[in-house]
Amino acid sequence: MPELPEVETVRRGLVKLIQNKTIKNVKVIYPKIITGDVGQFEQQLHGKSIQSIGRRGKFLLFNFDQGLTMISHLRMEGKYFVKSSLDPLEKHTHVIFEFVDGSQLRYNDVRKFGRMQLIKTQQVKEVSNLAKLGPEPLDNQFLLADFIQKLAGKKKAIKPVLLDQTVVAGLGNIYADEVLWLSKIHPLTPANKLSPAQISLLRQQIIKELTAAVAAGGTTIRSYTDAFEHSGKFQFDLHVYGRQGQPCQRCGTEIVKIRVAQRGTHFCPNCQRVTK
Ligand SMILES: [Zn+2]
Repeated sequence: MPELPEVETVRRGLVKLIQNKTIKNVKVIYPKIITGDVGQFEQQLHGKSIQSIGRRGKFLLFNFDQGLTMISHLRMEGKYFVKSSLDPLEKHTHVIFEFVDGSQLRYNDVRKFGRMQLIKTQQVKEVSNLAKLGPEPLDNQFLLADFIQKLAGKKKAIKPVLLDQTVVAGLGNIYADEVLWLSKIHPLTPANKLSPAQISLLRQQIIKELTAAVAAGGTTIRSYTDAFEHSGKFQFDLHVYGRQGQPCQRCGTEIVKIRVAQRGTHFCPNCQRVTK
C-alpha cells in the first residue's frame, strides 16, 4: 500500500505531467471507484483546469478552478498514468480524464479499492477521513509535545498506534516497522509506556526516514510506480521490513516476523526490547 513517500512521489510526478491541463471529458468505467454520483462526477469536471495538486496524509488533492477538489486515495494498488488518447487502454484502467490537448490521465487499480470524491475545495478539511487526520510528519506542525500527549493516552501497542492516521498522518506498515527498528522500540510496547526520550527519538526517526524515502522516490514492493511509471528506490534502504530470517544490520540477530493487530510486523528481538 502506498504510504506518505509513495503518495508524495506520485503527487510530484503529476504536478509535472498534468498541472494546468484542462479536462475535455471524464469517463468512469468502474463506478464503485467514485464516492457519490458518477454522472455528476463526470459532468462537474467537464472544462475544469487542474490548478494545483496537494497531498494530506495518503490522500491526493486535485484542485480545479471554480472551487472544486477531487480527493483521491490509492489504497492498495491505485496508480495514475498519463497517456495519449491514441494509446491502447490498459486492462485495469477504471477512470479516464481526457484533456483538451489529447493526453489522458488514467487511473489504474488492479484491486479496485481506491476511491475518488469530488467536493467543494472549501469543504476539503471537513470531509470525515481528512478532518480526523493527525499532523503531517514533514511539516513543522508535527510537534513533540503533542506527540507525547497523544501516546500517553494510548494503551495499545505502539505499532498499531503508528498506523492510526489520527496520531500522525502518512505512516503505513513498511515505514512503521522501519522507524521502530531505527528507534530500538519493540512493536508490542504499549504506547503509554514509552519514555519522553524514546518518543523524541521516534519522532526524529519518523521525520528522517520519511524525508529520505521521499528523496528516493518511495519504496517499490510488488507494484508501486509513480506517474512516470518509475519504481521507487527506497526498498534498498529498508532495515527490517521483508527481512525476516536475515541478520539485523546492527547486531546480527535474526529479524523476526510476527503479527501485531493483524499486520505482519518485522523487528530485531535483541535491539528492540519491550519497555515494561
Ligand atoms: Zn539487532
